[in-house]
Amino acid sequence: MKDKNFLMIPGPTPVPESVLLAMAKHPIGHRSSEFSKVLEEVYTNLKYVFQTENDVFMFASSGTGAMDAAISNLVNEGDDVLSLVLGNFGKRWAKIAAGYGANVDTIEVNAGEVINPEDVRKKLQEKNYKVVTLTHSETSTGAKNDVEAICKIIRETGAISVVDGVTSVTAMDVKPDEWGIDVLVSGSQKGFMIPPGLAFLTVNEKAWKVHEQCKHPSFYFSWDAHRKSVRENSTPYTAAVNLIFALQEALRMIKDEGLENIFARHERLALGLRHSLRAMGLELLVKEDKNASYSITSVLPPENISVPDIRSHLNKDFDIVVANGQNDLKDKIFRMGTLGFVSDRDLLTAVSSLETVLARLGYKFEVGIGTKTAIEWLNK
Ligand SMILES: *Cc1c(COP(=O)(O)O)cnc(C)c1O
Repeated sequence: MKDKNFLMIPGPTPVPESVLLAMAKHPIGHRSSEFSKVLEEVYTNLKYVFQTENDVFMFASSGTGAMDAAISNLVNEGDDVLSLVLGNFGKRWAKIAAGYGANVDTIEVNAGEVINPEDVRKKLQEKNYKVVTLTHSETSTGAKNDVEAICKIIRETGAISVVDGVTSVTAMDVKPDEWGIDVLVSGSQKGFMIPPGLAFLTVNEKAWKVHEQCKHPSFYFSWDAHRKSVRENSTPYTAAVNLIFALQEALRMIKDEGLENIFARHERLALGLRHSLRAMGLELLVKEDKNASYSITSVLPPENISVPDIRSHLNKDFDIVVANGQNDLKDKIFRMGTLGFVSDRDLLTAVSSLETVLARLGYKFEVGIGTKTAIEWLNK
């Protein structure tokens, strides 16, 4: 049905109407005092969302731009970098660092598993790494690293922790100042409830000192240029003006709901989804709830029912878009996002639609058990 699409992929995610309307304006001059006021509000609210006293920089790019902005401002050729890899997005850090000439070691786990913080401690005792990269919510598998425990270990060393919070900031608690995250990045089309095209980065003093020894920092993603601009309520280059109008509105919505309530909502929806899927007899890629991201849930299809069939029926019959697995996991799992502008109603819709589709595809199970489980979960 036209205009009825419900995006349950892990980005882009649904955009609220008030955010869409905030964008539907003629752009204004990015050097005007009017726009400077918008930026002042946006930069202040970004600090609230990132739970930091440090500046938050904003780039006109997708999330990977902020990842590039992190590495290209820290790493020189020949530096030792340790990448903690849960899946595709963890690997992306390693590729970026290798691209800038770093010697990259990895700790890699199987899809659906998470890093044991003690393995990181051991590795850091063996070698002096300049940078350790990690992913909070690994969107390719739905696993969640214990960033707090890992960064508290890294903090005891000279290494800089660089954390991908693209599907965790605004969905799950991330406290850079308290946990000792030195660089934290995120992107707009995930939990921020706005379309793709903006990326964010925050950096602390420890990382700034290492940055000062970076020989060829990126020009477009220059930390120095962005710090200067943030402090002048400006941007170094032409701002993505209309996306920033959208961000202004979305950040107001986030503040109104309150971070604690937003985290609780993501936890309720993700765990409710996990219980309901299990009740339907489906297997989850991330076995333990404590290791599960609250943004994205990876599900194995029942035997003899294919992922493409499930996805296309959800899409055709219910206008619900869920994601396939990536790379090796393609057609082995499907991924359901509960990220950003998602409510209790959406959980019920998704679970009951999936039940209907699986029944149509011939899966033998107690039809209705998933929806019943979701209802009981929400009424608990
Ligand atoms: C989406 C995503 C990114 C960034 O991807 P872009 O396509 O560049 O926005 C990075 N890390 C994670 C965990 C993601 O989910």
